[in-house]
Amino acid sequence: MAEPHPKIVKKDVKTLVPSPYILDYAKSYRNFSWSDAEREIEFFIDGKLNAAYDAVDKHLKTKVKDKVAIHWLGETETRDITYAELARLSNKFANVLKSNGISKGDRVFIFLPRIEELYISFLGTLKTGAIASTLFAAFGPEALFDRLHDSGAKIVVTSPDLKSRVDQIRNNLPELKTVIVTGSIPLGKDELSFDKEMSAASDRFDVVHMDPKDRAYMLYTSGTTGKPKGVVHTHYDIVHQHLTAKWILDLHPEDVYWCTADPGWVTGISYGILGPFSNGATTIVDAARFSAERWYKIIHDYKVTVWYTAPTAIRMMMKEGPELSKKYNLSSLRHLASVGEPLNPEAIWWGLDNLGLAFHDNWWQTETGGILIANYPCMDIKVGSMGKPFPGIVASIVDDNGSELPADKEGNLAIRPGWPSMMLEIWNNKEKYDSYFKDGWYFSGDRAWKDADGYFWFVGRADDVIKTAGHRVGPFEVESALIEHPAVAEAGVIGKPDELYGEIIKAFISLKKGYVPSDQLKEDIQKFIKGHLAGHAYPKEIEFRDTLPKTRSGKIMRRVLKAQELGLPVGDLSTMED
Ligand code: ATP
Ligand code: MG
Repeated sequence: MAEPHPKIVKKDVKTLVPSPYILDYAKSYRNFSWSDAEREIEFFIDGKLNAAYDAVDKHLKTKVKDKVAIHWLGETETRDITYAELARLSNKFANVLKSNGISKGDRVFIFLPRIEELYISFLGTLKTGAIASTLFAAFGPEALFDRLHDSGAKIVVTSPDLKSRVDQIRNNLPELKTVIVTGSIPLGKDELSFDKEMSAASDRFDVVHMDPKDRAYMLYTSGTTGKPKGVVHTHYDIVHQHLTAKWILDLHPEDVYWCTADPGWVTGISYGILGPFSNGATTIVDAARFSAERWYKIIHDYKVTVWYTAPTAIRMMMKEGPELSKKYNLSSLRHLASVGEPLNPEAIWWGLDNLGLAFHDNWWQTETGGILIANYPCMDIKVGSMGKPFPGIVASIVDDNGSELPADKEGNLAIRPGWPSMMLEIWNNKEKYDSYFKDGWYFSGDRAWKDADGYFWFVGRADDVIKTAGHRVGPFEVESALIEHPAVAEAGVIGKPDELYGEIIKAFISLKKGYVPSDQLKEDIQKFIKGHLAGHAYPKEIEFRDTLPKTRSGKIMRRVLKAQELGLPVGDLSTMED
């Protein structure tokens, strides 16, 4: 059978307009220093900084100040917010916090849908030196309680719709002093109106100067593998976020940039707020629920040029079929990137076929605060690979004792500690923090391998790798092969204990529109996989599901599939979508 799709997407930098910031990856990697990178950020004359100043206020001195920072798109209305407005409103919010007794180190939690108050509160909190955190708007009272209790939050900012969930747990949160509520509803004791406080507050605020390693924000991980951890980040993160947004996401002054991640997760903070704002980009914030048609229309209407999204979203668009995309003009798109889950080759080919562009995969974690491994605009893409380490990052594949493994050997994906946006701590859990570091490496918890050209390839989470008949099989390669079958929309693969084989591979599959489950289809899919992968890697068992269990950030929860399969407790489900 002829191979219809490229295994390598070739790049010719001379043809790229505008020209990417790095033209030769190897040379940039060799010549890089973080102290040069620091110069892209504005420090105060006392050597301190504030990430919110860098993201917003520094632009007041240039023409960026009148540029749209956020095109906000509601269900029915839209609004544009300039950098100057964002600076002024976040100053006001900083004053609101100050007058309510918030100071450096206090925790301010933002539990809002994607409305402008979320962005204003986040930046305003950073300006005061308090620690900001965002909570995904779909969280129920239990998920909220875990996070507000663990962090000892002093203020929660919420909306009329979400407030009742805070009310349910408030009596058990002794450290929570004040709830600030957007919109207008009757308020009770220790509750304040966002609008009233804002209109009374001054729009001048002296941004608090922070040491580089002072805490700025904390975010709970996605909960894909277990109970979410409160990862704390510093103001110095912005050095990393600024430069990676520029060099990896290719943000140029004229770009309209859309990061589809919710600000409840790290991508929505590092690359939805801090990195792009520090670069003075115009961003899209869509407050509505996902719909493939709406997304195409946004790209069309706003002439989006740079799009940063996730494999799940891409798969959802693929599921709709190609006709829908043809109704819209998507030719404004220039650069596409993806994060959060392994990017299946099929998704890259879909991009090439339907958008004329390849998605650039990149890898990082809540704990890393910024992108560490990526495909760069200037570099050939090996389809299915996460790319190469960012300049300044030393990444390797090591065994359990930290010894580096040769090319093509699967092992632990590990990083030399000390990059600017590395987590400062896990809140209230030193033991957990310490467990990441061993033998001079940061252990990511992911398994991968590196090829002879230095490209990294994802295998799976350490817990998800399957041992079958003496072979180690990563769920990613099986899932990627499965979704190449025309009927398969999504696949989640687990190892199921088996007396003979140790584990057998079981695949949970949801089908594309127009396909119905049948034994015939199962056999057909199995046959298809046997033709694509080594014999031991085909799923002996297949189960069709309408949908797969996913986190709200779109990651397939294989641990839930496995627990359900084995009849075991499913563990923390606070981040699972409904
Ligand atoms: P938890 O730590 O609570 O289990 P999580 O690991 O999903 O949740 P995040 O920090 O949001 O929380 O996600 C980081 C993880 O996402 C990585 O460790 C990796 O497993 C996966 N990931 C991110 N980007 C990629 C990528 N490009 N390819 C493959 N996997 C990726
Ligand atoms: Mg993790």
